[in-house]
Amino acid sequence: MEELDHAPLLFELNEVDTQKPPAINSDFRMLLVDDDIRLLDSLRELLNGMGYKLTTASSGKEAIDQLTHLKFDLILLDLRLQDVTGHQIMDFLRDHGIDAHVIVLSGDTTIEAAISALEHGAFGYLRKPCDPRELLKLVDNSRQRKLLEAHNQQISLRLERSERLYRYLIDNSPDIIYTLNDEGFFSFVNKRVATLLGIDRDWLIGKHYSELVHEDDLELAANVFNERRCGDRASRNVELRLKCRTSVEQERYFNNTLITIVLNSTGVYTRGKGYVKHEFLGTYGVARDITDRKRADEMVTYHAYHDILTGLPNRILFKDRLSLAMSQCRRDKTELAVMFLDLDRFKRINDTFGHAKGDELLQQVTARLQEAIRGGDTLARLGGDEFTLVLPNLRGRQDAVAVASKILDNLRAPFEIDKQPIHISASIGIVVYPGDGDSIEELLRHADIAMYQVKTMVKDGYYFYDRTIADSSHQKIILEQNLRDALTQGELEMYYQPQVDADSGNLVGVEALMRWNHPARGLLGAGEFIPLAEEVGLMIPISDWMLDAVCIDLKKWGALCDGQFRLSINISPLYIDRGNFPEKLHETLVRHGISPHQIEVEITESISIRSPQHAIVQLDQLCRLGVNIAIDDFGVGYSSLSYLHKFPIHTIKIDQAFVREIQSEQGHYPIVLAIIAIAKGLGLRLVAEGVETETQARYLKQSGCAMMQGYLHHQPMSGEKMLQLLQERVAIPAQAGSPGGADI
Ligand code: C2E
Ligand code: MG
Ligand code: MG
Repeated sequence: MEELDHAPLLFELNEVDTQKPPAINSDFRMLLVDDDIRLLDSLRELLNGMGYKLTTASSGKEAIDQLTHLKFDLILLDLRLQDVTGHQIMDFLRDHGIDAHVIVLSGDTTIEAAISALEHGAFGYLRKPCDPRELLKLVDNSRQRKLLEAHNQQISLRLERSERLYRYLIDNSPDIIYTLNDEGFFSFVNKRVATLLGIDRDWLIGKHYSELVHEDDLELAANVFNERRCGDRASRNVELRLKCRTSVEQERYFNNTLITIVLNSTGVYTRGKGYVKHEFLGTYGVARDITDRKRADEMVTYHAYHDILTGLPNRILFKDRLSLAMSQCRRDKTELAVMFLDLDRFKRINDTFGHAKGDELLQQVTARLQEAIRGGDTLARLGGDEFTLVLPNLRGRQDAVAVASKILDNLRAPFEIDKQPIHISASIGIVVYPGDGDSIEELLRHADIAMYQVKTMVKDGYYFYDRTIADSSHQKIILEQNLRDALTQGELEMYYQPQVDADSGNLVGVEALMRWNHPARGLLGAGEFIPLAEEVGLMIPISDWMLDAVCIDLKKWGALCDGQFRLSINISPLYIDRGNFPEKLHETLVRHGISPHQIEVEITESISIRSPQHAIVQLDQLCRLGVNIAIDDFGVGYSSLSYLHKFPIHTIKIDQAFVREIQSEQGHYPIVLAIIAIAKGLGLRLVAEGVETETQARYLKQSGCAMMQGYLHHQPMSGEKMLQLLQERVAIPAQAGSPGGADI
């Protein structure tokens, strides 16, 4: 709201205050003018002692001199002076704006003389010699008149002052104050209308109020803007939108308080006598600008129901929409689907790039999700990387399948952060109402369970809820406890997956992959518990165990592997961050008598970003030990390529996501080709991961990547099976690396 400017008020009030009204004749001043000294004396004698202040002048010149310097209320003036005539003195008074009464005392007895004196503005005319009583009476009349004039002047000054004050208050009011005539046309409006609405008030006078009101509010404005009622029945606090001319913000909100003039002013209703009907004259109204408050209210409401980062509905609004959609379903006997969507490996992005970039990615993801949904669907963000979606009016499960597939497809193209391509996928759990739950909470819980199933099994996919799966959060808590026990119970085991040279069929490396022989759930892949171990701080003891375990197996294999190939071990960034990994590895290798040349350490690109300096020191130390360094899951775009020059790297492994895309030998897969070119350019070993089909193998081979790891050649296998395989290789070298190796 605009602040009142007080300066003009002070100025105006001061101006008024300085114009003091004339004194009320406590000192009525008289000038007695006559060149007849005797007459002058007798006049003074007559008037002396009556409370008047008397001054005498015995010539016209002297009189003019006195009038120039002093202020008089009454002049007793002889017309016939030697030097200047009485008429000339009266002209002088008029010309100089001297506001004094003149009583002419003249020896001239003609009526013309009297008329001429009165025409010159004389207050009274007495013939000489005059009757003293008559003179005194006339003097007193003059005094009374002067008193009355002073009084009137004082009143009119006060009126003027209060009129100015009220006008000032009305014009500087933060509100628009207006009056309408009986037909709704403006008869008065204060200056405020110009600043608030950009409308010239003179233009507005005579216009109908509807010219100001927003079209959508005209109905509401009728009988409110031009209120006819009064007292308690008058409109109060009605919100209306008025049209704004100059403002960029096209419309402003007004809290329109209308009060009829019976309460506030006179003359708007005629005052009828007795039973005579009061006649309606118009409306008096005050419109207060509440735009800012309204915007603040809207903002608060918006934030209460929306996620600030993405602008999507938040949990509260989502639940509200879902509840509405559920009621609709019950009424129409239809179905709806709820999806619970969680981004895969999003934590890694936050850890690598920081939360600001993670947030940026979430915004990009939101845009892609929005492209996949229909008008009536509600997409919400519950927090973190969790989104929910309501699909009302489901015609069948195929509708949900179509949306889920579209979402997964939309997410497939790489995102971009810091000009780097980022790959992201999502796991989606789907429930159908009313079949899969009665309440919002139950539906969400079941969708979460289905999502968790996707996450642990495949990622980048969707599942419909199946009542036979247990609650995910419960599952997770149990799993965590089990994992703690797994170490002490000896349930962890290392599996091995060979890497082969597709040209020669030779075994060129082996990757150690952790497995968990879960007492109830069977053999769990690393993907099913390593993220949990990282989350709950078990990664250090588990990695310590892993170092010993692989050394023990290597020792068992002995000469079958020594000097033949390197064993790759996966190292969590958390383990590297601890800072003593090189020493730890060295100590373990020495303890087991294993040469560092038998080991390759697989790290993900993320460590190069988290703290490059720290990573360089660690990797340099490892190199000096004699171990090789491989970048795992290369190409998912978590870092810039610049680190490839800085880090002592020997091998890069093409992420399985790119290999999976290879569907045809004749196809063109630019990312794969680019990675192959990079490896060649830098003289690095290159291994393609997750090779499952002959097509993929052939495409990779003909593009220049012959080293492969994947189900096509070998599934990961136990240490025992690995030993068998190595022994078979020695016996029949030609079969080593042939497709369809040992199964887990
Ligand atoms: P990774 O290092 O990229 O390992 C490759 C993953 O792909 C393994 O999953 C492997 O079983 C799987 N795989 C191999 N060939 C194929 C194929 O042809 N098709 C498909 N779809 N998958 C294939 P796994 O064993 O579940 O390991 C998942 C991830 O867990 C590993 O990814 C690695 O990052 C981590 N990990 C495994 N073992 C360890 C460990 O001992 N320590 C640490 N820190 N991380 C480990
Ligand atoms: Mg690996
Ligand atoms: Mg990998």
